[in-house]
Amino acid sequence: MSARLLLLGGTTEALRLARRLGPETIYSLAGLGRVPDDLACRVRVGGFGGAEGLADFIDREGIELLLDLTHPYAAQISHNAARAAEMVGVPCWALRRSGWQPGPGDDWREVEGWDELTRALAPFERPFFTSGREPLAHLHEIPAHQHWTVRCLQSELAPPRAEVIGARGPFLLDEERALFVRLRCDVLVSKNSGSASTEPKLQVARELGLPVLLLRRPQLPAVTHEFAELDALYEALSL
Ligand code: NAP
Repeated sequence: MSARLLLLGGTTEALRLARRLGPETIYSLAGLGRVPDDLACRVRVGGFGGAEGLADFIDREGIELLLDLTHPYAAQISHNAARAAEMVGVPCWALRRSGWQPGPGDDWREVEGWDELTRALAPFERPFFTSGREPLAHLHEIPAHQHWTVRCLQSELAPPRAEVIGARGPFLLDEERALFVRLRCDVLVSKNSGSASTEPKLQVARELGLPVLLLRRPQLPAVTHEFAELDALYEALSL
């Protein structure tokens, strides 16, 4: 496809797609993670200033198609994308990755928001948080009977009864097995991202019989076209 594309990224799939696109495409990142420097397409970093800022950008750059390949929990940018596309009258296509589904023997419990999560965690002693940076803001609230491990992109100093692990996926099954044993965790906390690169932890929880507390997925806006698989998007883009 020769249309001028704006690709909103921050996921493995977005980077995979960006690698196939040429200099007429703009690949946009929020700037929280690694910024690749080996792409043929143009890379820009940082927010646009809400839906209005994004609409201005689309207009100014002559963008003909907006591609939303952001993370399923990055709801704000997805809402901004849908609104901006509507404002300027360009189509918005989104990759909406499906969530993970529990299998036989899985003990998955869905929770909504931090308060519900902490209530659900009360019976446990060693939660392993793999749900982003939010727990870091609550490290001073760790209940006396708990030890927390938080895995997120960047490590930082942790108070007593906590460990913060800086790591980015993909995570390998054997390494996850060894980590769960070392941590002696008794419950896993996760988003339901549906990504293969972070899925092995769920298998380890299954093998060890551990419950998993999953943060509920946010509602995402309707867009011009939704794709469940990257291959279907490649096909629609004739790549
Ligand atoms: P968010 O809450 O939906 O967005 C917050 C703000 O960040 C947006 O309003 C926008 O700022 C800016 N932004 C987000 N994605 C952008 C992009 N691709 N290009 C330019 N600006 C962007 O997002 P978030 O949850 O903080 O996630 C930030 C980024 O990390 C996203 O790109 C997402 O794909 C990626 N990510 C998120 C998660 C997660 O669990 N949330 C996990 C893995 C990766 P303005 O309003 O100023 O435009």
